[in-house]
Amino acid sequence: VLSLRGATKRFGGLVAVNDMDFDVTEHEVLGLIGPNGSGKSTTLNLISGALKPTEGTISLRGTPISHLSAADIARRGIARTFQLVRLLPSMTVLENVRAGAVFGHRRRWGAEADAHALRMLALVGLDRRANAHVGELTYIDTKRVELARVLASEPKVLLLDEWLAGLNPTELEEGITLIKRLRDEGRTIILVEHVMDAIRSLCDRCVVMSTGLKIAEGTPEQVLSDPEVIRAYLGDDDA
Ligand code: ATP
Ligand code: MG
Repeated sequence: VLSLRGATKRFGGLVAVNDMDFDVTEHEVLGLIGPNGSGKSTTLNLISGALKPTEGTISLRGTPISHLSAADIARRGIARTFQLVRLLPSMTVLENVRAGAVFGHRRRWGAEADAHALRMLALVGLDRRANAHVGELTYIDTKRVELARVLASEPKVLLLDEWLAGLNPTELEEGITLIKRLRDEGRTIILVEHVMDAIRSLCDRCVVMSTGLKIAEGTPEQVLSDPEVIRAYLGDDDA
C-alpha cells in the first residue's frame, strides 16, 4: 500500500536517509528499527510530508505523494504519532481527539465527530477522561490521547514513532496489548521501536536502518539474529 523508492534526505553534508527502498503491505505491521540517529524518524518525516525527500519517491497505492503538503498527505490517509507527544495543551482530551476526526482522512463534523472521538477514546481505554485537560494527564495517558487522535482520522497507514518509549513495565505491557489489538483489527502500521520485546511480538516484518542505510530486512527473528544488525546496535552502545 505504501512504497519508498530511493528515498534520500540530506541535511547539508549529512545523509540522514540514504536511498531507502521498502514496501508496506496492507494489514501489515512493519518494524522500522535501528540504533539512535540511524534515520528512522527522518524516514517517517518523509512519509508524512513533514520533510521533502532530497531524492526518490514515496507512493501511496501507486500514486506519488512526496510532492504533496503534509496536510494533503494526512487527508490521503497517512497519520502519525510523534516521538515527543504533540497535543494542544489548552484543549480537553476529547477536543484533541476530535481534531483528528475533523482534519483526517475521513472527515466528520459536529456531533458525529464528537461521537467518533469518544469511540476512539474508548478504544485506547481513556473515555472516562474525555473532559480532562491534557495537562492533568499522566505521560502514558497523553500517549493514549495522541493514538486516539491518530485513529480518529481513520488512516490507511499509521506511523508510530517510539510510541512505547518511556513507559514503565506495567504500562509497556498495556501498550503492547493495545497495539496488538490494532494489528488484529487489520490496520497497516509502521512501528519505529527500540523495545525488543515489542518488536518480536508485534512486527510481521522489520526493516533495519544504520546511518541512513537499510542494512537488513526480514522477520524479527531473522533480522535480530543477523550479525550485521547486532554489530550496528553494539556500535551504538559504544558511542
Ligand atoms: P532516534 O532513535 O534517536 O530517534 P532516529 O533513527 O529517529 O534516532 P533521526 O532523528 O531520523 O534518527 O536522525 C537521523 C540523523 O539526521 C541524525 O544524525 C540527526 O542528527 C540528523 N537530523 C535529523 N533531523 C535533522 C534536521 N532537521 N536537521 C539536521 N539534521 C537532522
Ligand atoms: Mg527517532
